[in-house]
Amino acid sequence: MKFSAPRGTRDILPEEASRWRWLEEVFREQCRLYGFGEIRTPIFEETGLFARSIGEETEIVTKQMYTFSDQGGRSLTLRPEGTAGVVRAYLQSGLANQGGVQRLFYFGPFFRYERPQKGRFRQFYQGGVEVFGAEGPQLDAEVIALAMDFLNALGLEGARLRINSTGCKTCRPVYEKALRKALAPVVDKLCSWCQERYKGNTLRILDEKRPDCRRYLKDIPSILDSLDKECREHFEDLRVLLNGLGIPYEVESDVVRGLDYYTRTVFEINQPGLGAQDALGGGGRYDGLVEEFGGKPTPAVGWGMGVERILDALETNRQPQAGKGPAQEGLVYFATAGSVDMEIVPNLISEVRASGMAAISASLDKALKAQMKEASRQCCRWVVIVGEDEIAAGTVTLRDMESGEQQNIKREKLIDTLKQLMEQKPL
Ligand code: AMP
Repeated sequence: MKFSAPRGTRDILPEEASRWRWLEEVFREQCRLYGFGEIRTPIFEETGLFARSIGEETEIVTKQMYTFSDQGGRSLTLRPEGTAGVVRAYLQSGLANQGGVQRLFYFGPFFRYERPQKGRFRQFYQGGVEVFGAEGPQLDAEVIALAMDFLNALGLEGARLRINSTGCKTCRPVYEKALRKALAPVVDKLCSWCQERYKGNTLRILDEKRPDCRRYLKDIPSILDSLDKECREHFEDLRVLLNGLGIPYEVESDVVRGLDYYTRTVFEINQPGLGAQDALGGGGRYDGLVEEFGGKPTPAVGWGMGVERILDALETNRQPQAGKGPAQEGLVYFATAGSVDMEIVPNLISEVRASGMAAISASLDKALKAQMKEASRQCCRWVVIVGEDEIAAGTVTLRDMESGEQQNIKREKLIDTLKQLMEQKPL
């Protein structure tokens, strides 16, 4: 082997891919039910777009971006997250000028140069949603409900929703000042990462997980005590709405996010038991970002969920139906016996495909027994056997691989019979 996939990336082979497709279909269906339309943005964008929105001092921008110059000398970056590109497209395409509330969703790969480990890759996939044009907590509740419905529809149980408010540009600085004051006596004892944050984006210290630092963070003030009246009411209303929807949550004042653009509501969804990387997704409100990109002030809220982590959680916590991607859905295998006319079988297969059913043919140089073995290896439920006798009689033999039953049917009845069987016996 001369080559292997780059570190932190992986290949998804057909069996796993069918689970991925199933997850994506469930995600799309939930988005449809909530009235969201799909947006597809480029995989790479101008580097400045991410630096400006995610924040110059964040880990993503300082350490994790795949940035390169193209032949024209432009600095481009493989997208490390979804929101910045969607906001740019919202403005550039004129969606922003249509007014009203815009609900968008996306699904695709993202890239971060991180240390690979279980649940952490350099290329990973996210499904995400963004809503533009509504300030009220109803939309925060709606996107959270969509996230939880998505996980429920997959059959995942036990996910924990943690919510917080990070205030707005008026009340957040008041809190940051109080936080710096509270941390001043211990700042020398914190790690270098925290000390850097202390000088710049102090709020991010709340995200520190290292136990050595955490023990100094026990008695710090809560941001929820510093919220101004509007932010406090917004957060209280969100809680009332979530209660009304029957969505369990915990309020945790140290939920901040790794990106600078959030305002007011932030949330994370974790799956206990997944190990160190147990965040399935997260998001929040970013009321200032559209304006930051040159648009009119436009409130917005959204989230992104990690596909690999959700699939992992489904695997670890497998429910009877959870994660059951259809294998080779309705695949029909054509086997031949003896020397048969070279044209009949390919034509029959074409007819089967033209009527919407998937079919594959055996390689002609194998014995029937080997062909049947191959059909079961391919998880085919039905095998159509065409031998010399069948050709002479204008029939085919249809075998149900699960029950072992066989029936001889007229060739022209094959399509109708297969259709009926597939309706009766879905995989
Ligand atoms: P973030 O915007 O960083 O909170 O990411 C949202 C979600 O994407 C996380 O909760 C993870 O599920 C997933 N995610 C982020 N980074 C990675 C990564 N490097 N590998 C796998 N999944 C990731």
